[in-house]
Amino acid sequence: MTNDDASPDEQSEFPPPVWSRGEPNIAGATDRGVVRKINQDAFGRIDDPERSEILLIVADGLGGHRGGEVASRMAVDRIGADFLAAAGEAPTRLSLAIRHANDAILAESRKDHTLDGMGTTVVCLLLTEEGETWVAHVGDSRLYLLRGGGIDQLTEDHSLVATLVREGVLAPEDARDDPRKNQILRALGVREDVEIDIAPVETRPGDQFLLCSDGLHGMIDDDAIAALVRSVARPETAVEKLIEAANEAGGTDNVTCLLAAMPEPPPAEGLREKAMRLFESTRSVFTPRADDD
Ligand code: CA
Repeated sequence: MTNDDASPDEQSEFPPPVWSRGEPNIAGATDRGVVRKINQDAFGRIDDPERSEILLIVADGLGGHRGGEVASRMAVDRIGADFLAAAGEAPTRLSLAIRHANDAILAESRKDHTLDGMGTTVVCLLLTEEGETWVAHVGDSRLYLLRGGGIDQLTEDHSLVATLVREGVLAPEDARDDPRKNQILRALGVREDVEIDIAPVETRPGDQFLLCSDGLHGMIDDDAIAALVRSVARPETAVEKLIEAANEAGGTDNVTCLLAAMPEPPPAEGLREKAMRLFESTRSVFTPRADDD
């Protein structure tokens, strides 16, 4: 079965801006690919206007039947809801929400035997108006940073193949075609305890963050991802192009991309403007009030 329709299964329609200035431009899309009959990926954007925070989530469900679908949807919904409800510092709220989602998915799979063995990866990016940024992840869905023409993978895959590459047992160029590439070492909803990688991310104006499932990074390489994102102006177009590229490369898996473009720096102030501004501010200090003379 092929996907003749070029547009993804599901495209984001995100709510209007919550930030007073410099709102990042965010777009996401998911597609079942050209081989799979169902889409077990899920993604979401959760806005917290009170705290001026935006949480982005991509989850890739594992497990037969409808299990994977249920697990990834539950992860996005539960993490989003619990993150909004939790108190404390950002990383505390983030890890609490992920732990709660782990418990909820595990409880659901124990309750309903048709969901037995379901689980999901998750990658979360938290953006704040003050510029504080956090990443949290479990599994092999990734966060990339695209900056100044380059691309950096900010998350380490919790997979067997990635571990073998890190240990020097497997060559990086052989990883993509390794038959064990689907073996995940960590996932949500499979054990009572879950180990989460969570870290702050240094963020600069103009940075672009890409969250994606392995349906993208397993099909096209990092340089191709960077070139595609660079070639278009709008994140909406970028996510569509990425999905198209993954499908053209075989599309053997569901593919999900969520891209956040941080605002560019304001145009540099010219010397003349700077001099005028300083002059104006000095004058306002030294101009005597009318009743002083
Ligand atoms: Ca996948």
